[in-house]
Amino acid sequence: MAKDYYETLGIAKTASADEIKKAYRKLAVKYHPDKNPGDKAAEEKFKEVSKAYEVLSDDKKRKQYDQFGPELFERTGGQGYGAPPGGGPGGFSSSNFNFSGFSDPRDIFSQVFGGGGGGFSFDDLLGGMRNGRGRRRSSGSSARKGEDLSYRVEIDLEDAVLGADKKIRIAKDEACPSCGGSGAEPGSGRKSCPSCGGSGYVVSGQGFLQMQEACQACHGTGSVILHPCKRCGGSGVVRVEKELQIHIPPGVDEGSKLRVSGQGGPGTGGGPAGNLYVIIALKPHAVFERNGQDLICELPVPLETALQGGIVDVPTISGRTRMKIAPGTQNGTMLRLRGKGVPALKGGARGDQIVRIFVELPSGLTAAQLKTIASLGLTESNYPKQADFRARAAKFLHT
Ligand SMILES: [Zn+2]
Ligand SMILES: [Zn+2]
Repeated sequence: MAKDYYETLGIAKTASADEIKKAYRKLAVKYHPDKNPGDKAAEEKFKEVSKAYEVLSDDKKRKQYDQFGPELFERTGGQGYGAPPGGGPGGFSSSNFNFSGFSDPRDIFSQVFGGGGGGFSFDDLLGGMRNGRGRRRSSGSSARKGEDLSYRVEIDLEDAVLGADKKIRIAKDEACPSCGGSGAEPGSGRKSCPSCGGSGYVVSGQGFLQMQEACQACHGTGSVILHPCKRCGGSGVVRVEKELQIHIPPGVDEGSKLRVSGQGGPGTGGGPAGNLYVIIALKPHAVFERNGQDLICELPVPLETALQGGIVDVPTISGRTRMKIAPGTQNGTMLRLRGKGVPALKGGARGDQIVRIFVELPSGLTAAQLKTIASLGLTESNYPKQADFRARAAKFLHT
């Protein structure tokens, strides 16, 4: 029993074109296969809403539907499509659809959401979950640039500051090396399309309701490949694991985007491949905190050193150095090591390292040690902040 298309979209029989579109948008986004990888039920739903939308959004087809019901649209089938022109192994391809005369749901989706401007981004729509699976080749043979891919890579702070060459492994689609992306077994040509007899169009409906549409099997070209490529199953793309060497320039920060030209998805129809964008994420560092171009490090200093002054060891991002501590250095003092911070990505001065002194009080003192401290005879004059604070507090409390 074919399902009612109005029910599928959850709309009334009297719904306006606008309401139909709205209902489709909502459901198509929800059930899009890129958002529900491997979920057969969602894929099925996606097909159903696409079918319903395709019919109900077309005035002529909607009238036919209202008159004859879904059976009119569902009874043809199994005409034998050519090899699916898109979709990777295990992907979502037109060969999964058993109905004739319908467009690929993905194409409907792109038509409704893509194009038309308005700053509508397909990727945003799917919550950035598109994983770069081969996009279907559109009808016609216009060359199209491959999809841009993005890849997040977590790096150590020292690599971000000093720069590094990193190997990353990514899984992506590439033009099938066996058929060069054509989808045809090497040496085999094309044959006249069996679905349309080579005309490139099909006639559907009956009597005065006949309609002529571009043949879905050959996308209106009139020919299909003779033998699908054994390596890619005719899709023209293969999923590959690839190791890429990327250069991380000194000075990158959290969220920096590095472009690796030509390492995105494969182009179609002879179009160039897309780009790969490597997005930098920084791992937390054991010693340093980054603040723009400065690196902050909190350095514990023993009480005696803070009192007497001295030389202390300080780690920097590129190795150890030594730093002079003045006698009487207070807790929280900030000292600056010029030029030991982060280089500017686009040229310019390098940032500084800021050393925040933490005067550590000794712990685990013996009674004898404590007695010695008491015997120092320290007075309020040794603690200028005490008197100052008391004065301010008294003023505030009116005492
Ligand atoms: Zn191939
Ligand atoms: Zn055809």
